Order: sequence, then structure tokens, then C-alpha cells
Amino acid sequence: MSLTDLHEISFNDFPLIEPVQRALSDVGYETPSPIQAKIIPHVLAGRDVVGQAQTGTGKTAAFALPLLSRIDIKRKHPQVLVLAPTRELAIQVAEAFKRYASYIDQFHVLPIYGGQDYSGQLRQLKRGAQVIVGTPGRVMDHMRKGSLKLDQLSCLVLDEADEMLRMGFIDDVEWILEQTPSERQTALFSATIPPAIRRIAQSQLNDPIEITIKVKTTTADTVRQRYLVCQNAEKLDALTRILEAESFSAMIVFVRTKTATVELVEKLEARGYAAAALNGDIAQNQRERTVNRLKKGNLDILVATDVAARGLDVDRITHVVNYDIPYDNEAYVHRIGRTGRAGRTGDAILFVAPREKRLLHAIEKSTKQRIEQMQLPSSHVINDQRVARFKQRIADTLDKEDLSLYQKLVDDFQFEYNAPMSVVAAALARLVQGDEPFFISDKKRKSREKIEKKRRQAEGVDVGNTDKTKKNRRSKTVANDIEFELFRIEVGHVHNVKPGNIVGAIANEADIDSDYIGDIVIEEDHSLVQLPEGMPKSVFKHLRQVWVSGQQLKISRLSDSGFNEKETNRQKIKNKAKPQVKLKREKSSESRGEFKKKAKRDSAEKKSKKQDKKSKKAKKKSQA
Ligand code: AMP
Repeated sequence: MSLTDLHEISFNDFPLIEPVQRALSDVGYETPSPIQAKIIPHVLAGRDVVGQAQTGTGKTAAFALPLLSRIDIKRKHPQVLVLAPTRELAIQVAEAFKRYASYIDQFHVLPIYGGQDYSGQLRQLKRGAQVIVGTPGRVMDHMRKGSLKLDQLSCLVLDEADEMLRMGFIDDVEWILEQTPSERQTALFSATIPPAIRRIAQSQLNDPIEITIKVKTTTADTVRQRYLVCQNAEKLDALTRILEAESFSAMIVFVRTKTATVELVEKLEARGYAAAALNGDIAQNQRERTVNRLKKGNLDILVATDVAARGLDVDRITHVVNYDIPYDNEAYVHRIGRTGRAGRTGDAILFVAPREKRLLHAIEKSTKQRIEQMQLPSSHVINDQRVARFKQRIADTLDKEDLSLYQKLVDDFQFEYNAPMSVVAAALARLVQGDEPFFISDKKRKSREKIEKKRRQAEGVDVGNTDKTKKNRRSKTVANDIEFELFRIEVGHVHNVKPGNIVGAIANEADIDSDYIGDIVIEEDHSLVQLPEGMPKSVFKHLRQVWVSGQQLKISRLSDSGFNEKETNRQKIKNKAKPQVKLKREKSSESRGEFKKKAKRDSAEKKSKKQDKKSKKAKKKSQA
């Protein structure tokens, strides 16, 4: 699809129900993304679809909007089931459904995922929900228990199918598919289509429409492309730092929604920048006036949506900032083409949240250009720039202005007060600067972030990936200090289990990041797996009952399992390996406390051993 087509399609062109249209105008999406434009009509028509799309392309709305328009709200049983590989995605998809259904009375969506308390899920399942979003293992559990009945399911969505395959859920997914009514509609979304996913598409979907967005992929090589990894909550700070650190003439900042253009402009204006919004809601003549102001230099920053910035051609634009990552490569190419016009050089900076990294790689792959990573400009760099600008302003004023009146005033002042000239100049600089501190410090930024995080937590707002990344970072420092254990699970080669099945199930059910699960050895009728030492009892108990490849894990600590000598030796060898395993999130404050204490103890022991060694060495030296 070209951007011209994109411009012409609007959400109003689809027969989405009125409450969904209303919710869409609240969230401020201007136009359907390419995957939405192509998928929505087919899902609305009840057809099976295969959409090759990744996170960040707007694929959730591509299925959620039409499915919401088709559900029968009077019936409380599950009509739509979305299977997602991780709890994070399940929650995110459920939240998207909630947002788009905010004007649909009596609508219920229920996320069910591993590691969460069963009782709450059972209660909510009993109450009824039209849409269930779940991870395969937990969905299967509820189906087996009879607490989740899918006999009246009308649509099943497989979200990030290749990830489910990678995490070893594909057998579970097939099992679930087989238990649901064969006349159901199926929508499969996957960033890639490996053979196993292709096989499912062929065997389980009914004459599906396949949607892959073809893209134009040329970027000017006069544009320097960089990306900055940052969380949503950090974007404003990152942008203001970039505005200070980069020397730019005019800048265009791309965001995804009309609302975001206006909000960001307000924030930039409050920080003293000459900025204006450009979005599809603004009348054409007003838009032209805004662009003229930018051309003349009365404005320095435009905050725009893709559609509003179509064809924008202003030589002054030296920088393009992709504040929100574009949905696809074509939009990216179009955006960065707003700079580096007519052979000039330009700069393009892309903000990427950690979970959007795949989209970044897809852009790199299709444009066949590497985008270099940049770091957030440090306080040091910014302060140097501030000093340079301060000096430049003085030099410019000396150069261009008639200062005779002020010179006389200052001379008079100096004569009356007998103050050194540098002190008088400093007082004037202070007047110009006002109460705003001249230098910034990282200390302030960090404490601001801390306060903001606390506030958001207190308000019950999901602090999202920022938290997760920090948690993982902290975990890793602790990980070097803690030991781990070897466990036995009662599923092996005879059950056709693959390592991926075990990783996927344990990752979701015990909330252990899959990257941190250690070695897995699959034996004939059982397997061995390395997991963090000190697993909370509740998690252990829960894992005993988890099903993988049709078997309950019945996990046991290897020492409890009566193994023979040979296996114990293997355990010893394995336990000597450097531990790489760490629990991502502990189950309760009590168990968290235990983990922390243990990690501290281990770390303190190691430290004191090191110190002992050091002091012994020092003693030897001094004696020598
Ligand atoms: P997804 O690919 O579903 O994870 O969506 C990525 C992001 O794009 C989410 O933050 C959505 O809110 C946003 N989004 C989805 N559709 C649109 C749209 N038509 N216009 C602007 N933003 C959108």
C-alpha cells in the first residue's frame, strides 16, 4: 500500500460499530495503519487471515476492532480467544480490547496467564467474559479443568505465532485449536512464517487471506540515521536533551496520534521551544500557515503525524525525530525523507522501546542500512553546549546591537556602587537566566525519575518496561552471587518433549525469564533442568502440576529424587558451571525477602572471603 492510499482510508470507511468508532476517536488514531487497512475488512467479513506483522505495526487493533464489532454482547460465554506467547503480551492485548470497548456496555475481557492465582481466574471465568486472552499453558489447564468452555467460540486469534513456536507452545496451540469448533474463524499473526507455522496455517485455517505489507525501501544516504533505546516515560526527557545537544535548524518530530501532537507541543512550549502541531484535524489553510512559519524561522519544531506531514518540503529541516516508532518501513522512509532534501545532509533519530527492537531490525533489513545506536546526551555534553550558547549570545549581541544606552547605564552603576565589571555582568546574566538553573545534573534527573515511578506505582499505573529492565539489571548483579539447583521433571523423550516446551512452560508458569533458564537435559522418561536456588514453595507446588507434552511436570529437587551415583556426578559437574539463572519476579513479599536475604548473604560471604585473601596477601607482603 502506498502512502497515498493510506491517506485516503479512514476508520469511518469500515463498518465498525459506533461505540468502537467513538473509542477510536478518543484514542486519537488518525488513520488505520497498513496492516489494519488490509486486515480489518476481512476479519469483519468473517474470513480466516494470516497477517505477517510484528509488534508495533498496530496488529492488535487490526483484529480487536473488527472482532469487537462482531461479538454478541448479550451472551456472556467466550466468543473470542486470543493466544499469546507471554503474560506481558496477554495483558497488553487485553488492555487494548478494554480501551477499544470503553463504550460497549457489559463487555468483559479476561486475561489468563501462567503464574497468576487460579482462584481469581476461576471467579472471573465464572462471571463470564466475551473475550479471553491467554497464554497457551494456562488456557489448556482451564480447558482440562472444565473452567474454560470454548464450545461456542467464534474466533481464535494466534498472536505472535512464531514466538509461541520458539517458546515451545506449538503443540499446546494445536491441541487447543483441535478442541474448538471447526467452523470458528481463525486469525494468525506472526512476524515470520517458519515451516511449522505454515503447516498450522494450511491445516487449521480455512482458505485464509494472507496479508504481507510490501514496502518501498530507499533512504537517502545523505541522512545520518541513529536510534536511541528509551522507554515511553523517558521520551520527553530524551527529546529535550537532544534538542539541547544537537545543533539543528528546524526539526520535525513524528508521533502516532493527533492527541500526542498537541500534548507534546504543549510540553515543548512550556520548556521554551517554538513548536506547533500538524495533524489531520487541523484545517488545510492553518496547516499551510504553520509550514510557512517553519520556513521563515518563526517556528523551529513541528510535531506531526504521518499523514499531516505528507510531502512536507522545508529545506530548514535538519533533524527528524521518530518519537513514536513508525508502523512499517515505508512510513520510516517517508518520515526521514523530510530531511536531507535536495542533496543536503540531515539527521534522523529513532526512539525505540526495548520491546520494539524487532521493528528496528526489520527497518534496517529492508532499507539495507544500519542504524547506529546513540546514547542519551549526558549532562556534561549539554552543559558544555549551554556554555557555548551563552558565549555565542553575548558575542552576537556585541556584534549586532547598538549597546550605547546600556553601556551608559552599566558605567553609571559601576561608578555608584563601585562594583567590579565582571560582577555587574554576572548579575545581568542572572537576570536573563531567571530562576531556571543554568546547568543540569544527572542527579536531579534520576531522582525525578524515581519520584515519577513511585507516583505512578501509587496510582496503580503500569510502570511497564522501565521497571522490568531495571529489575533485570538488578537481577543480573545478584545472579553472579547466587547458586542454583538442578530439578527433575517427569517428562522426557518418550513424551516427545523438546527443550522449548519446557522453557516456555516454566517461563510462563514460574515467571522466570526464559533467557535465565539454565541447561536442560532430556532423558528417556524424564528431564533435568537448572533453575534458581530457593524457589518459593508456592511456585514449586504450582510447577508440580503444570502440564507439558501431555504430562504433569511433578517437579522435584534432584537430591529428593533418589537418583543413582552417575546422575549425582552429573549434577555436581553441572552445578560447578557459572550460574546464569535468576528468578525474574518473586511470588510474594515474603519469598522476595528470602531471596534478597540469601543473595545478600551469599554476596557478603564472597566479599568477606575476598577481603580475607587480600589481607593475608598484604600481611605476607609486609612480613617479606
Ligand atoms: P501493536 O502493533 O498492536 O502492538 O501496536 C503498537 C502501537 O501502535 C500501540 O501503542 C497502539 O496504540 C498504536 N496504534 C495502533 N493502531 C494505531 C493507529 N491506527 N494510529 C496510531 N497508533 C496506533
